[in-house]
Amino acid sequence: MYRVLLISLFITNIFAYEITNGKTFLLEVKQNSQILRDKTALTLLKHPTKKNSYFILLPIAYKSKFKDIKLLHVNGDKIKKILLHVNKGNYKQETLKVNPKKVKPPKSEENRIYKEYLESKKIYATVTKKRYWKKAFLLPLTSKITSAYGNARVFNGSLKSFHSGTDFRARTGTKIRAVNDGIVVAASKRYYSGNAVIIDHGEGIYSSYSHLSKIDVKKGQKIKQGEELGLSGATGRVTGPHLHFSIIIDSKKIDPLDFIDKINSLFI
Ligand SMILES: [Zn+2]
Repeated sequence: MYRVLLISLFITNIFAYEITNGKTFLLEVKQNSQILRDKTALTLLKHPTKKNSYFILLPIAYKSKFKDIKLLHVNGDKIKKILLHVNKGNYKQETLKVNPKKVKPPKSEENRIYKEYLESKKIYATVTKKRYWKKAFLLPLTSKITSAYGNARVFNGSLKSFHSGTDFRARTGTKIRAVNDGIVVAASKRYYSGNAVIIDHGEGIYSSYSHLSKIDVKKGQKIKQGEELGLSGATGRVTGPHLHFSIIIDSKKIDPLDFIDKINSLFI
């Protein structure tokens, strides 16, 4: 007797993408799709301009491991495999000379710094389900970039951190504007950031603006895109007046300009 073997071939399409640490992966998907990472579904966000379309935002941490992130795209009985290959960004090293007190803060400031760290950690870990951002994102001012995101930072000879935002040239007193609609969730003076404002744009997206000379908004206040939130300055750990601008998603400080390019592509 012959045994008949019914072999069902499970065909899986594989899609490979390249991404750099510190950047954001954005993928558009149709309705009824699910994107799974380690069996957990990623949040689908409604496409701002296309009907029945959604997208996922996957921020890749600067300190992410350089290996493939595996995702499954499930649409009914169709399954696609997505391999996201994380490459090391070609980031520069910067040497900075600043007030030694701001590199190794005095003991008396340690509690304050820790408290401020916990405050922002709590803010960024909070995902507001509602969407406040409604339009394409703007930049907080029009000016030259003086220090790009991702540069490895060496302060007074010791490697401290990576540059977690983009610096714009701004002489003290330049008007700084909200990049999109949102709610002001922090507006205070901090040890490292100086006078700083954080805006919650909803859906886990935050923008922050540091080293201001003047803050014109209050915590809890609604803010519109383009509205003035303060004036640039040189408060906190700085070498001179400028605006340090960052975008935070899922507690990750990612390249703000890359994020804006990606999300604004949904409006084209
Ligand atoms: Zn900066």
